[in-house]
Amino acid sequence: MSSVSPYLCSTTRYELRCNECGKSYGNRPLSACPDCLAPLEVHYDLEPLQGHLTREKVGRGPASIWRYRDLLPVIRAFQPDLPVGFTPLVRASNLGKRLGSDSLYLKNDAVCSPTLSFKDRVVAVALANAQAFGFTTVGCSSTGNLANATAAQAARLGLKTCILVPSDLEAAKVLNTQVYGARLVRIAGSYDHVNRLCTLIADEYHWGLVNVNLRPYYAEGSKTVGYEIAEQLGWRLPDNIVCPMAGGSLMRKIRKGFQEFIALGLVEAKPVRFFGAQASGCSPIAHAVKNGWDYIEPQRPQTIARSLAIGNPADGPAAARMIQETGGWAEDVSDVEMVAGIQELAEDEGVFTETAGGVATAVTARLLAQGRIRRDELTVVCITGNGLKTTDALQGRFAEEAAVRPRLSDFDAYLRSVQPDLIGSQAEPTLAGGVY
Ligand SMILES: *Cc1c(COP(=O)(O)O)cnc(C)c1O
Ligand SMILES: [Zn+2]
Repeated sequence: MSSVSPYLCSTTRYELRCNECGKSYGNRPLSACPDCLAPLEVHYDLEPLQGHLTREKVGRGPASIWRYRDLLPVIRAFQPDLPVGFTPLVRASNLGKRLGSDSLYLKNDAVCSPTLSFKDRVVAVALANAQAFGFTTVGCSSTGNLANATAAQAARLGLKTCILVPSDLEAAKVLNTQVYGARLVRIAGSYDHVNRLCTLIADEYHWGLVNVNLRPYYAEGSKTVGYEIAEQLGWRLPDNIVCPMAGGSLMRKIRKGFQEFIALGLVEAKPVRFFGAQASGCSPIAHAVKNGWDYIEPQRPQTIARSLAIGNPADGPAAARMIQETGGWAEDVSDVEMVAGIQELAEDEGVFTETAGGVATAVTARLLAQGRIRRDELTVVCITGNGLKTTDALQGRFAEEAAVRPRLSDFDAYLRSVQPDLIGSQAEPTLAGGVY
């Protein structure tokens, strides 16, 4: 592993390789093999880490993705200054009871720092590389969350930012990009149009686009979801992962993270089944899995789950293959089921997720009902984004409450008319419920 790239002339412990032909490309802003057009992926030399990267060493690290920096593609001189990731893994007993699981967990990236989605992880790694390559202008093509994450982190790093999105994006995601001072360009077309345009733009202007020419580095950031799940389960792997899919990258990288932990002896080897979740209005990967294909038939997205609305997913074929390999499955749910999923997760667990999390929750319900996931298996559902960004999805679901006059008698009359069971159901509080 000593190929010299025109950009970084240090001996690297990681480099880009073609997934198909295996050719090495060193480290440079390049996403596809010029020979066979297959995606490039970062490969590591794990040998020097054997025996050195221990549970204790990781445990002493910062409470962020940077505790795993030895397994991330960042140059030695890189100084992380933003605590991204290390989000809660929480038991979901109430939802488990509702859906028929005794061992259900949520990986809650709805509260990922700094912009409330798992995209903060991928952007952190991509921008570390943008800086190493000397890019002063960065950007992305985005279905929303990536735009937020790129705009926020680029602002902090003092990089100029230009972000392209499909014109029908949710208002909250547009605002959450513009507030950081990024140039946001709405493109009259679908995400797939936006993405194709960005490939041309990266070449034309020499910009560092996190999910285009920096994509191999960007994608590695998603491995940290897998590392954290394993560490937070007490250094062991779950039986099942349920994961929403757009481009199909997150899901694959969670597995890569697990495999690296196994290779380094940090967790015991064990088969983990991967279950993909999509919205029926844009389900090219789920469709491929259900048909046993290893190729993708592109779709024209029509769903309110805009963060998952990629009709021609870059990592789709690999994701479909991987799901089948692990003995998993993929399902897709309607927009109505997705909204019910959002509400159930909020009511049962106090977690307000965006549409993608509603998809993951509803698909988990389906998989348990089908018996594809069993009640006693340890299942982790990836909640990847925050509900405050997609409040449009719940528009009209809750009645606007009348304003009540600030008097006890008015309040009492009002309560008796709308929810009488709230009255008289509470015993007087006791003095001491426990030891103070
Ligand atoms: C981007 C995104 C995904 C899917 O990620 P891929 O790696 O493209 O499959 C899932 N959930 C949310 C909220 C996202 O923004
Ligand atoms: Zn190749």
